[in-house]
Order: sequence, then structure tokens, then C-alpha cells
Amino acid sequence: MNILELHKLKGNTYYIDGVTTNIGVYQLTDNDVCLIDTGFANVGPRIYEILKENNWDLKYIINTHCHADHIGANKYLMNMYPNCQMITSQIERAFARDDKLDIGFLYGGYPLDCFDTPLMHIDEQKDILHLSKLPNGITSFRLKGHHYDMVGYKTSDDVYFVADAIGNKDTIYKEHILLIYDVQGYLDSLHMINSLNGNFIVPSHSEPTKNITELVKTNVAKINEIIDLILRLLETPRTLENLVKSIFDYYKIRISYNKLLLITSTVRSYLAYLYRLKLISTKFEDNYLYYYKITEKE
Ligand SMILES: [Zn+2]
Repeated sequence: MNILELHKLKGNTYYIDGVTTNIGVYQLTDNDVCLIDTGFANVGPRIYEILKENNWDLKYIINTHCHADHIGANKYLMNMYPNCQMITSQIERAFARDDKLDIGFLYGGYPLDCFDTPLMHIDEQKDILHLSKLPNGITSFRLKGHHYDMVGYKTSDDVYFVADAIGNKDTIYKEHILLIYDVQGYLDSLHMINSLNGNFIVPSHSEPTKNITELVKTNVAKINEIIDLILRLLETPRTLENLVKSIFDYYKIRISYNKLLLITSTVRSYLAYLYRLKLISTKFEDNYLYYYKITEKE
């Protein structure tokens, strides 16, 4: 399949296979369309070309969440179409209005400049509409787990755009730990997506499909593998930094600022999940916070 080409899914719903991120296209009238996400900044000119080729005018950009691979080309396209308006959920609007908020959120304080890479950087966008302004034919639904207030979109053609609520198979095998903010929420979203089996489902980073069950299983299996690994590692009490290092070593992940930021944040979320399930506990020692697995007799 060609990359960065327009593909029809059903009725008025299309998508652009966008190198890293699928971009939804929904035709509102003969001439007007809206996009669901835009991909990284560098794909903006190609999206513009596709819109021109089809004599389409861009009315709305509807975003699932604020990450750079989803809103990166917003700015370019909104410059080309000055009447185009951006729409997303309440908290994602806040993230998209500030170029440092998401990095600060992941880092837990004012971030060192070296964390502000093109993968993470958000070009701030000021005027963003509420989800109540979605055009006719598109509805939103909450997708907990990956980011704070991520939403999915359903078009009138029964096509579901489910953003980063489900990981790409190759990425899971290669990178192992995908960014998760809320592990329970992520599992709940996977369960919900599985119940959509039979409809067209468009994950942001995998091919559109009507059979999502295998991919859901791959995602759940990796999460369970990570849970087992953390519990095994915490048979010895460890600090967060030590646990993260041990996970990098186990999966042979090469450390970088970007990976450290995303994986540390995700490991924190796994710890909160396991703590709530009473599978791990914490203790202070020597002014360090240690996490450890609760053994049967406790
Ligand atoms: Zn994302």
C-alpha cells in the first residue's frame, strides 16, 4: 500500500496512510472535509496536496490528543486554510495551548531543555473549540489510558478512529513499553475496542481493520508481560530509578532522553496500578522511596 495516499474506507470516510500516523478524512459536503489528526509537522504539505487534488476545503481539524505525531501538521494546515478550526477534548485543549505543558506533565517539573525534542514538542495552538462543536456526522467517545483526556471519533459510516488506545504490533515487539498514563483505563479501552470487532476500526499506528481481536490480544499480552516483569524485579525492593534501569536492561532498550521520559512516566503508572491492586507496597529507607512486591504471608 502506498504511503501518504488517500484511501476510501466507507461512504464519506477516508484515511491518509501517513508514514507514522493515520489521518482520518471525513467529507462533510461536496467541497468541505474535516481531518481527524494531522500527523507530524513534515506531512503537512502532502496533506495539503491531497486536499487540493480533490478540490476539498478544510473546515475542521479534530484531534484525538496533543502528541506531536497527532497535531504536528495542524499549524501548517491552519495557515493554509485560515478559516479551519481545531476541535478536541477539554484537557487536550489545555495541553495543546502550551508548548511545555506535556513535557512538564511527563517529567514532573520544569523540564531540562534536552527533553524538548521534535518528538515531544508541541507547537502551541490558541483557539480550540469544544467537542460540542463537532460537525454533523461525527461523535466522540472517551479513550482512557494512553493520555490524559484522549478521545476517539466515530463517523456516520460506523468507522471508529481509536487513536493510540491500541499499539502497533511491530512497535510492541520492538519497543516493548508503549506510553501509558492509566493502566486500568488502557485495559478498559482495549476491552471496549475489542467489542467493536466487525466495524471499521482505524488505530493511529496500524492498518484499518474489521478484525481487531488479534491486535487487542497482542497488546494485553505485552501489558501482562510487563506486569510480571515488574513484580519479579520487585521481589528485591528497588527505587524507581533502579527499577527503570532494570527494565531498560531486561528489554535491551538503549537509553535516550525521549525514552527515559516516556518509560519512567509509564513505569510510574504501572506502579500505581499494582499498588492499588495491593500487589506491591512502598517503604522509606535512608531517605529513599522503595517499591517492593507483597509476599503471600503479609
Ligand atoms: Zn500519543
